[in-house]
Amino acid sequence: MSLSEQKLDTDLVIAGGGLAGATLALALARAVPQLRVTVVEAFPLSREPLPDHYQPSFDARSTALAWGSRLIYEQLGLWPRLSAQATPIRHIHVSDRGRFGATRLAASEHGQEALGYVVDNRWLGLCLMAALRDCPQVSWRAPAQVRDVSRWRDGVSVAVAEGDSLEHLTAQCLVIADGGRSGLRERLGFRVAHSGYDQHALIANVSTGQSHGFTAYERFTPAGPMALLPQGGAGAGNTSALVWTLAQADLEQVLALDAADQCRRLQQRFGWRLGRINQIGQCNHYPLALSTVDEAIRPGVVLIGNAAHTLHPVAGQGFNLALRGIMALVEQFQQGLAQGLALGDLALLGRYQAHHRRDWQQTVRFSDSLIRIFGDRQPALALARDAGLVGLDLLPGVKRMFARSAMGLGARRPAFPNEPQQARNRDD
Ligand SMILES: Cc1cc2nc3c(=O)[nH]c(=O)nc-3n(C[C@H](O)[C@H](O)[C@H](O)COP(=O)(O)OP(=O)(O)OC[C@H]3O[C@@H](n4cnc5c(N)ncnc54)[C@H](O)[C@@H]3O)c2cc1C
Repeated sequence: MSLSEQKLDTDLVIAGGGLAGATLALALARAVPQLRVTVVEAFPLSREPLPDHYQPSFDARSTALAWGSRLIYEQLGLWPRLSAQATPIRHIHVSDRGRFGATRLAASEHGQEALGYVVDNRWLGLCLMAALRDCPQVSWRAPAQVRDVSRWRDGVSVAVAEGDSLEHLTAQCLVIADGGRSGLRERLGFRVAHSGYDQHALIANVSTGQSHGFTAYERFTPAGPMALLPQGGAGAGNTSALVWTLAQADLEQVLALDAADQCRRLQQRFGWRLGRINQIGQCNHYPLALSTVDEAIRPGVVLIGNAAHTLHPVAGQGFNLALRGIMALVEQFQQGLAQGLALGDLALLGRYQAHHRRDWQQTVRFSDSLIRIFGDRQPALALARDAGLVGLDLLPGVKRMFARSAMGLGARRPAFPNEPQQARNRDD
């Protein structure tokens, strides 16, 4: 008896309803509406409706979505909503503190209205949940946790703990999207290559004397890289999202300062490109590391999002890479179903991995080398960096390659059902 003839509780279980898990659920609902998807999420489900007048809080965390990610959310029908609170990045300015090299990327050079967009994570979450409420084939278990998975006939049996009860859900496949500290990845013994950067990211929003003018700044300093991303929606504002990397001892010092001294310290590191730094909001911090699995698949199981790869946030690539992986996976699910394969079939999952691996390896290399080259203070490397930054400006081909990475166009996007070829070609 084939899997499709067996009575399964659901077709696919997604462990983790964060940004990656929720986006996958929506992409599946759009692309393969006949599939029943169960999302298991550890936190309670937000029933908050999408407000007509969203007021971003000064302390909200945000994500830089590359241009390629905008195209993905357009395909999923989410962009009209999402864009209402998205701040376009029209320029990227990369500089090395105390050295002469600097390079600028402009959206207009690439014939686009933006290189990417900054969105509040909370707004993105609200938009995703609002869209998913209209997808009856997606059901939620929350608050609940996936505890384990085992093979069951040709599919899987997923152990789900909800309150005091433990239930086993049978499905064709389990997608693990439980984040960077993925307990399930460890439990199942996936091999992870992990290297720490000996740094922490301090995240906060800042207000500045001058408008950001829709420019994202990436600044490399002897003590580590930092980024300031424009916020405030379509009207140019004076608020930017800060990602500031610091060694452990420096982090502790900065956290012990009062807000005025934190602003002064930041000003020394960032400079005066945005005028005086007037205010700094609530500070959150994270230890920084690069971790990637070497294999993201097993029969009936696949890892996505941070569970598969966690990158340094300064280059703003982690979630963008996750989105491209999600679309590559959805494409393989579509093709596999057309061939009569079960969703957890290893050949199907292997094709997904083969398609996504190049993009994944290139993106990891791009963001890791950016951090390591610019983090190294040896004079020879400093010169190479300057040459690199100046060279980026002088050599349009190299700059274009850099811009494509920043825009999340590293690899070809998968096709989507009923998508006009013209739309697909826009990112080529
Ligand atoms: C400071 C910072 C800034 C960043 N900025 C950018 C950026 O500008 N651009 C970009 O592209 N990326 C950025 N990233 C990366 C981006 O945040 C991540 O790629 C993204 O959040 C990953 O989402 P995820 O859904 O994989 O994981 P998570 O967001 O961690 O979600 C995992 C979910 O799984 C749930 N869960 C955990 N265990 C279980 C279980 N056993 N059962 C059920 N549910 C479970 C959790 O409750 C959670 O909701 C940044 C990251 C950091 C740290």
